[in-house]
Amino acid sequence: MYCANCGVKLGDAETVCPLCATPVYHPALPRPAGEPLYPRGHYPPQPERSLAAQIVVTALFLLPCLITLVCNWQISGRITWSGYVVGGLLVVYLGSVLPFWFSRPDSLIFVPLWFTGVGLFLKYIEHSVSGQWFMPFALPVTAVLGLFLTALLALLRRFPKRKLLIFGGAFAALGVFLTLLEWLIYEVFQRHRFLGWSFYPLIVLILFGLTLVFLSLNRNARDAMYRKFFL
Ligand SMILES: [Zn+2]
Repeated sequence: MYCANCGVKLGDAETVCPLCATPVYHPALPRPAGEPLYPRGHYPPQPERSLAAQIVVTALFLLPCLITLVCNWQISGRITWSGYVVGGLLVVYLGSVLPFWFSRPDSLIFVPLWFTGVGLFLKYIEHSVSGQWFMPFALPVTAVLGLFLTALLALLRRFPKRKLLIFGGAFAALGVFLTLLEWLIYEVFQRHRFLGWSFYPLIVLILFGLTLVFLSLNRNARDAMYRKFFL
């Protein structure tokens, strides 16, 4: 007997597919007794995460940090360019290595954490070059992007069956964000007049987002698309 939905082989006593939870039911077949093929509640042991690899990778990040700091200190007597190198490496480490110290890294914690790290790094750069662009520009852009991505992940986790609707909304929101970004660049830096380059991605992203929203709400259109593209 095989699952009518996903095609996995089923034990004779199986009442529900263990993979996709489709009920196994055929009124004409008597259900013979038997052991289920897959044990319930027992999962194969997860492979041990290698602590040694984590330590080596961390050392590979710390070593260039130390070397640049020492070189910079020896040459200039203070921390100048090495601050950018170390800050950049720490931001990369925060996003790519730190989560793997945990057995189940939660993206809803690490994504905002990473954007906080990026924000602090940008604040540091602004401070070292005596700029005036963090509060009016870098902070709002980093904060909005971080909140946007965190909200997207939270929605996908909360409503896993609503992916099309969520991504449709996200694409439209991204288009609006780009237009606001162009406006902000124009407001803060006054380097050029408002060109409107962001209207092109805005139109494309909104059309694409609306298409996804339409597909998510209209079952017939969605099925037709699935058949056409084998999505
Ligand atoms: Zn199945």
